[in-house]
Amino acid sequence: MPPEGEGVVIVGGGLGAARTVIALRDLKYPGRITLLSDETRLPYDRPPLSKSYLQGKVAEDKIRLLTAEQLAELHIEWRGGVAASGLDRERRRVRLADDSSIGYEQLVVATGARPNRLPQFEHFDNVHVLRSLADADALRAALAPGSRLCIVGAGFIGLEIASTALGLGCRVTLVEAAQTPLAAILGPQLGARIQRWHESKGAAFHCGARIAKVIGAGAAEGLELNDGTSVPADAIVVGVGQSPNTQWLAGSGLELDRGLVCDLNGRSSDPLVFGAGDAVCVRVGAQRRPTRHWTATTEQARRAAAAICGRAEALGEDGTDAIVEDNYFWSDQYGLRLQFAGHVPSDPRLVWVSGSEDAERFAVLCCTADQVTAVFSLGCVRDFLTHSMPLRRGERVAAPNSRLPE
Ligand code: FAD
Repeated sequence: MPPEGEGVVIVGGGLGAARTVIALRDLKYPGRITLLSDETRLPYDRPPLSKSYLQGKVAEDKIRLLTAEQLAELHIEWRGGVAASGLDRERRRVRLADDSSIGYEQLVVATGARPNRLPQFEHFDNVHVLRSLADADALRAALAPGSRLCIVGAGFIGLEIASTALGLGCRVTLVEAAQTPLAAILGPQLGARIQRWHESKGAAFHCGARIAKVIGAGAAEGLELNDGTSVPADAIVVGVGQSPNTQWLAGSGLELDRGLVCDLNGRSSDPLVFGAGDAVCVRVGAQRRPTRHWTATTEQARRAAAAICGRAEALGEDGTDAIVEDNYFWSDQYGLRLQFAGHVPSDPRLVWVSGSEDAERFAVLCCTADQVTAVFSLGCVRDFLTHSMPLRRGERVAAPNSRLPE
């Protein structure tokens, strides 16, 4: 049994929290650990919510990150269904929405992010977002074969939902404000390539589009776009980015900038407060990088746990000593894995490593005049690994002049 004392309190019951708990016990942290979540469900993994779970291929128990038995074995106190509402750092107490509070020796902020909502959709019943299991259940019920799904926002979540909904026999239209899907991350050239791929699977797109109004009352019947086009729909999903759940830290004096600002070891501006996951914005040198991906979350949780146990990794302030995972992510669509690492420069030169602009599977380097700054792959996992590892280690990679031999 852990000794008495307030120990570590982890606020949030998702991936970041679950991985921190496991890492703390792996590192033989002997003290009390309390896991506190506003959800009543035990921690679960979110990527399947837009993929296999939404398809109905896996059940809830298969995406659980911690079971009741594991929590008992690891001597974790689980408090579900209670939200943190404030933080008193002087007294080292987290205030809770039920008017109680809980003391801590060290605190981990792992409250994740919430989907952004658009005000014009507020009063409609059949408009969905996707973050939680409850959201996925509600969306799944709307994906009957033949139904018309309109997805607002062609980012990763929107594209994954499109892939799943088409697989379930729905008719899918995506409405995107930018000129192509994923333009902000991949740039317009690769974004257009992804759009053509989705179109080949049956998705329709309206890019560069603005919503003039939502048609219908009670239930939305579709959208009218600024150019007069109407997009009829039986259900709508809004996937227009996310915001960190850090409102409860307002007034705490912690540095907040698109998330709780932490160093690569998960340490905030308070030596007793750590962070992991989508609620965090990582400080690397002078840069602040919000991270909202699975791999970054697991890395941050591992490092935060190590720092709590006095084993913080000796990472350079500029991050060059570490594999920096905050700019790496993956996605699964139409049975293929998409992977990306790095930062696409404006007007990149693309060098195909495998496949070609027209092939379904390809891997490509995104280069400035002299340097590779990003690697993107669709279905070429081995090539992606080969070419992305130097970038993920923070190394400088010279840009090849032309296509590399396969
Ligand atoms: P979460 O998993 O969201 O957990 C945060 C928890 O904190 C939640 O339980 C929340 O309810 C709770 N909470 C919030 N506020 C409070 C409060 N005030 N008090 C108490 N508890 C609170 N990433 C990839 O790299 N690849 C993918 O393919 C991919 N697919 C995804 C698909 C979907 C549908 C979603 C939603 C995300 C996907 N991600 C993907 C992102 C990945 O799942 C997240 O990066 C990861 O879940 C972040 O973990 P987290 O612990 O920070 O947040």
